[in-house]
Amino acid sequence: MNKIGIDLGGTKIEGILLDDFGNTLERNRVPTNRENGYESIIERIVSLIKELQNISKINSSIGICTPGAISPQTERIKNSNTVCLIGKPIKEDIESKIDCKIKMENDANCFAIAEAKLGATIGYNVVFGVIIGTGVGGGIVINGKVHQGRMAIAGEWGHHTLYPNGNQCYCGNKGCVETYISGPSLEKRWTELTGEIKLLQHIIAEAGQLSSDKEKFYLKWKKEFITNFGIALANVIDILDPDAIVLGGGVSNIDFLYNKGIESVYNNVFSEQVDTPIFKNKLGDSAGVFGAAYL
Ligand SMILES: [Zn+2]
Repeated sequence: MNKIGIDLGGTKIEGILLDDFGNTLERNRVPTNRENGYESIIERIVSLIKELQNISKINSSIGICTPGAISPQTERIKNSNTVCLIGKPIKEDIESKIDCKIKMENDANCFAIAEAKLGATIGYNVVFGVIIGTGVGGGIVINGKVHQGRMAIAGEWGHHTLYPNGNQCYCGNKGCVETYISGPSLEKRWTELTGEIKLLQHIIAEAGQLSSDKEKFYLKWKKEFITNFGIALANVIDILDPDAIVLGGGVSNIDFLYNKGIESVYNNVFSEQVDTPIFKNKLGDSAGVFGAAYL
């Protein structure tokens, strides 16, 4: 059965038509142009869907990957950096213009299901998909389906408390995981230690050529990062005990997470024997649109 997925991003809207085996039959993208407002975004999504429906009739519902959390009561977006989408009846507005049902999920859940169906964690029953980028999010897939949870917050490990009275988080709490291991928090910590403003990829790339003073800071920074990553992910394993974990987002490109990072996770898990595989994602930025097709 062919499927359609739409990834609604801040800068682009992407649509994909997949066949039964997950092969791409058609893939199109248009700019979001969010400055043109909500109605224009809905029109763009609808015309993308119609183009794909013209190529192949779809019987199943169409999935949309959204930037931001969706309220389970109202099915409206609660928070998003594309602010014109917040609180709007996106699902009804699109359904009223096409002859199909819509299913919406946030990007972490779409990432998890995409990697479980087509990416790094094919064949694993319980998959925890992690996004560590500007923020820290997560999604749980059980037997090929997204597990949303009663309040649709399942997998939101980014706001577990790592340190009571720790860093202030935008969510109102203190010491959330996100305030320690997201890209911006890692950069902020580097500045606190060294006084330098540096992008994460430069901190990593230049690690081998630091002066001995700077190297001391780097080792401290790296040790804290690995410790925080290990404790945070081990807490998830203790609760969910997934069959596999897959990492996505910009921070997931750091190689030491897959050796020292995994070691730190295993050291913090409540079990003598731990062998949970932790993979790097395979789909990269395409996870949103593929995941949407599998909702
Ligand atoms: Zn928080």
